[in-house]
Amino acid sequence: MDSILLIQDAHKSYGEIQALNGVGFSVAAKEVVALLGPNGAGKSTLIRSITTLEQLDAGQITVAGVDVRQDPRAARGFLGYAGQESALDKVLTGLEFMRFQGGLVHLPKAEILNRGRELLERFGLTEACDRAIEGYSGGMKRRLDLAAAMMHRPKLLILDEPSSGLDYEARRELWQMLLELRQEGTALLLATHDFEEADVLADRAVMMSHGKVAGVDTPNALRSGLGSWILSGMLHEHRVDGDRDALRDLFADVPGVEMPPAPQSSEFAKAITPGREDMDGRPWSEWLRQHAESKRVELVSVGMRRPTLQDAYLAATQNTVEVVV
Ligand code: ADP
Repeated sequence: MDSILLIQDAHKSYGEIQALNGVGFSVAAKEVVALLGPNGAGKSTLIRSITTLEQLDAGQITVAGVDVRQDPRAARGFLGYAGQESALDKVLTGLEFMRFQGGLVHLPKAEILNRGRELLERFGLTEACDRAIEGYSGGMKRRLDLAAAMMHRPKLLILDEPSSGLDYEARRELWQMLLELRQEGTALLLATHDFEEADVLADRAVMMSHGKVAGVDTPNALRSGLGSWILSGMLHEHRVDGDRDALRDLFADVPGVEMPPAPQSSEFAKAITPGREDMDGRPWSEWLRQHAESKRVELVSVGMRRPTLQDAYLAATQNTVEVVV
């Protein structure tokens, strides 16, 4: 498979902090890859290194076969970037902004206006194109940023938290547009800490933690790698201190992948695959309840649910840092 982006053994430190510590993965042409991880995982450092704003200490990044360090200008020609903080100039109109952007990416003058209008149409901004950007909604601004990033027909579009701060509807609308871009042949690298966003959009997810890649696979494979269910139990809050160890012991009898407990939580969970192990032929949650009773552990609830991408991330990184979604 042809890679539009290839990252090999990327290292970058800021003083004592190793922001990237041997990161490697690839993005194929027309693929959508989500870069998942909490704040501080190294996502932005990696994106700055790909977009040539920063240089790696060691390792290599190529975009469409071009080494970003050796020929940053050629590499940038293949890349589009839409950041979290909107770079839009508030006093310009949408169309003026597109023309400005066309100049920045050195499009031929004769092409700029047509391309600008075409993209504004494409992202549903034709009606608003002569209005000042200042008056645009959050969703419109994000769409204009996307349109601007597509001005020079990049083969790879890099997005940093594309839907943060958007309401439900604007978020869905943006996702739809990103899926359309992918269908039209643009590869996407999407940095996000929104697991749902990664699940909806990504062909594969790269799970980053502390400057390293903790796992790469399709969202489905990452989830099913855990087992088919998450069995969870919750203690009465007032008994948490005394019973937490008992609850842990209780789950120790259940075969499966232990989920890292949330700090200060009265919950415990394990990823399991029912059927592989026989629990006396009873449903697992019922088995757990009875087992708890026999061990005198008082459970407030017992439940089964399907594993999420967030479960897969937490299991892979054993990260007890609370992930903000
Ligand atoms: P993310 O985008 O996943 O939140 P970052 O790449 O921003 O992660 O940060 C990774 C680590 O590198 C963090 O510990 C952060 O504090 C540190 N870091 C990032 N940029 C700089 C910088 N310019 N100077 C010093 N430390 C930095």
